Amino acid sequence: MRNTLRIILLVAIIIFIGTGIYVFGQSRSQGQNATDGLQVSASFYPMAYFASEIGGDNASVKTITPSGVEPHDFEPTAQDIAAIQSGKLLVLNGIGFEPWYAGIANDLKQSNTQVVQAGEGLDLLEGIEEDHGAEETEENHEEVISDPHVWLSPVLAQQQVIKIRDGFIAADPANETMYVANADALTKRLQQLDTQYKDGLQTCQSKNIVTSHTAFAYLAREYGLNQVAIAGLSSSQEPSTQELAEVATFARENDVKYIFFESLVSPRLAETIANEIGAQTLVLDPLEGIPDDEIEQGKNYFTVMEDNLENLQTALVCSK
Ligand SMILES: [Zn+2]
Repeated sequence: MRNTLRIILLVAIIIFIGTGIYVFGQSRSQGQNATDGLQVSASFYPMAYFASEIGGDNASVKTITPSGVEPHDFEPTAQDIAAIQSGKLLVLNGIGFEPWYAGIANDLKQSNTQVVQAGEGLDLLEGIEEDHGAEETEENHEEVISDPHVWLSPVLAQQQVIKIRDGFIAADPANETMYVANADALTKRLQQLDTQYKDGLQTCQSKNIVTSHTAFAYLAREYGLNQVAIAGLSSSQEPSTQELAEVATFARENDVKYIFFESLVSPRLAETIANEIGAQTLVLDPLEGIPDDEIEQGKNYFTVMEDNLENLQTALVCSK
């Protein structure tokens, strides 16, 4: 009798826990992957933000790179790929920013999924990617590749918006009017942002920005700044001691007052240089991701770009 009671109790506990896991799993998958509206996947934050603005209430946009994760070396999971393949539209930046796409490109051609590479075909800059290899050797491999960070120029971002809009129209022609209207509204906001940057950076004492990785070349080209970066095109590249010393020398000789760091990577190197030359540090966010809780608090592409402008004005001593 006692044993029977024990078994009943055990079964009850298993059912209780099992139901809990099931319910939890259900609410999680609903939260991440709403089933209503046009199913869209976007590779990382800025593409997801532009896609959400253009798709409006009609689209459900899934961000492939988890929020707050640095996307440069990100690899999607099998579930991510399944979500991409079952969706109607995949929005990528392109320009080599999503190397994993090459592995699924052929499969996607067979499926019904439209693919937009929003940065391809724009007026691109070249950059150097350093491949230090598995072991640090004297012979570092340097490769010239196109710089993918186009979303950080409010002017090039407008061209990305047009390409994403056209992807929505190809995936869902019935709602063309709405996508065009939403893209127009987003373009207007980007034009206003461009004006804010032009005005805000017009009269500054310096033009030199020392950044964490070379993410700001398009922004620098647009507004006449000079970027000197601690790391290369990817934030995961570690600079050599000699490269660090060169950046410190440049900063000292040019009387740089602030060294910029990024919110998603460690500020260690920026702090090292700042300490060495007696400068301070400030955030210049390359918008490669925003943690969910910060998005919930109202952070988005525009608020981060405005914060970036404010910090640039402080660092470059601009008249406001
Ligand atoms: Zn980057």
